[in-house]
Amino acid sequence: MIQSGSILRRRLVLVVDDYEINREILGVILEDDYDVIYATDGKEALESMRANVDALSIVLLDLIMPIMTGFEVLETVRNDEQLKHIPIIVLTAERSAELQALQMGAADFIAKPFDMHEVILARVGRIIELSEGRQLISAAETDRLTMLYNRNFFFEYANRLAQYHPELHMDAVVLNIEQFHSVNDLSGRDFGDKVLKAIGDEIRAFLATTEGIASRFDADHFDIYCVEQEDYRVLLNRIQDKVNKLSPNVSIHLRMGVQPWREGFEPVYMFDRARTACNSVRGNFQNPLMVYDESMHRREQLNQRLLNDLRPALERRQFRVFYQPKYDVQCDPPRLSSAEALVRWQHPELGLILPGDFVPLFEGNGLIGVVDSFVWQQAVRQIVAWREKYGFTLPVSVNLSRSDVFDATLIDRLRHLVDDNGLSYDDIMLEVTESAYVDNASLMLDTINDLRDLGFKIEMDDFGSGYSSLNMLSDMPFDVLKMDMRFVKNIEKNEVDLRLVKLILDIARYLEVMVVAEGVETQGQLELLREGGCDLIQGYYFSCPVPPDEFEALIERELAIERDAGQTTKGGIGAFEA
Ligand code: C2E
Ligand code: CA
Ligand code: CA
Repeated sequence: MIQSGSILRRRLVLVVDDYEINREILGVILEDDYDVIYATDGKEALESMRANVDALSIVLLDLIMPIMTGFEVLETVRNDEQLKHIPIIVLTAERSAELQALQMGAADFIAKPFDMHEVILARVGRIIELSEGRQLISAAETDRLTMLYNRNFFFEYANRLAQYHPELHMDAVVLNIEQFHSVNDLSGRDFGDKVLKAIGDEIRAFLATTEGIASRFDADHFDIYCVEQEDYRVLLNRIQDKVNKLSPNVSIHLRMGVQPWREGFEPVYMFDRARTACNSVRGNFQNPLMVYDESMHRREQLNQRLLNDLRPALERRQFRVFYQPKYDVQCDPPRLSSAEALVRWQHPELGLILPGDFVPLFEGNGLIGVVDSFVWQQAVRQIVAWREKYGFTLPVSVNLSRSDVFDATLIDRLRHLVDDNGLSYDDIMLEVTESAYVDNASLMLDTINDLRDLGFKIEMDDFGSGYSSLNMLSDMPFDVLKMDMRFVKNIEKNEVDLRLVKLILDIARYLEVMVVAEGVETQGQLELLREGGCDLIQGYYFSCPVPPDEFEALIERELAIERDAGQTTKGGIGAFEA
């Protein structure tokens, strides 16, 4: 982070400390950027300073040492014409000593136990720069664009404020820009910079009247540590107004999360919570401010609990796979065509947990892969079991997570699974959410293409929620389009939604892929979809996801209908031809 140490020649640093461990720690921190020499007491330090008087850039000096203390060294150096230009940073665990040392001519101090590496490096670099009369200081300490602190300094100062001024009740405030990367993409980086600078200006104006500090990092993250405010809407509105004035053509939305002061809470911890609050209102333009509260705390605790419980749950086989039927509605009566495998967690204390409560959590850290593998295995075994019991194959689709697609072993694992169980590749279908296609286009496309080349059928799940554009769509490889259930929900009441659904059906016809509508709950929805040409329907109207034994009742009912109609079950049910 600090480049000063490596400019042209490497500068020489003398580290003086009687404890070897301290010398070692500082050596490790400094060695990449500086040449480091050592002394173990004040007397040795002075000898070394005299011997290296022209080469030495800085001395890091412990105060309490045998033979000659740091204070004596400071005193001697201050009165020595030759040595007094060499800057000294004192190392101290005592706040009272800091002041005395500064009064005796020390340039700065470093607290023991030692601060973060970056802070130490920055201090050393800064003092060298100062003594060399150069002006690069702020580069280390502040962000050039907004003139707010960079992250490390911010937290160092926040910790000091919390520690030394407990009487100031400081809140943690996190501010973010919605979709900042699109702002950059659509309006250019210069405009993006203008937005960031405007936010920085307004935060600094706010801090001119309120005790506090602020930082910017990772492009559009702003952390503000300030004395408690009555209502943070005032601050958010003030910054939002400033940003609104930048351009009439671009609308930029800010969001904010707050963790109010709590006795004994460390700044880092408070900012974690403020960030959680801020993320919880991502995309919520009506309500862009969130104060961390108990329900969030409970949610975080639950998440932690689920993370801890995952491994034992796998070992104790607490995950269960339910099946929801898909019906072909272009024949009369509709025929059972296939099923989707949906995971549930039968938790011994928390009861039945739906995937919405743990899938996104495990997706965030890649752990979902093990759950998915388990589900695929169960699904394959189920297909085999039903084939043996009923004499035909009912195709089952399974869900793939984003992280599965990044897994280099994915294709081999799926292939083995199918081969080892004597199935064919199109007996198991793979559902991949549309947004995954959009996120990491090229890798995703390669993997999907390889899977399709093998013979797997791919369903694009949640279509309409991931903002893929029409021209992208024609390049995306998939066999079945699964319309997001939000479209279906209101088709009976809302003309626009109905038109959208019809549009999607048209697109599917044009692309020559089948369409599944999800979330169908009523006869009316079913009729509209059928008329529009929708092939398959999945939803509570037919059945919610059920355990395998209940699903068998659906199969048997289907077989009975066929028998009654005197039909021959040539290919069995599952007349699914994608
Ligand atoms: P999804 O893949 O879009 O699955 C459809 C969800 O809609 C299921 O929720 C299903 O129970 C629900 N649903 C079906 N019909 C209706 C209906 O008529 N009305 C309403 N309101 N809902 C209906 P579920 O089982 O809670 O799963 C939620 C999501 O969790 C799934 O959405 C999928 O994204 C994910 N998921 C489920 N199982 C797995 C899995 O094994 N692996 C992975 N990676 N994700 C899974
Ligand atoms: Ca799905
Ligand atoms: Ca879906």
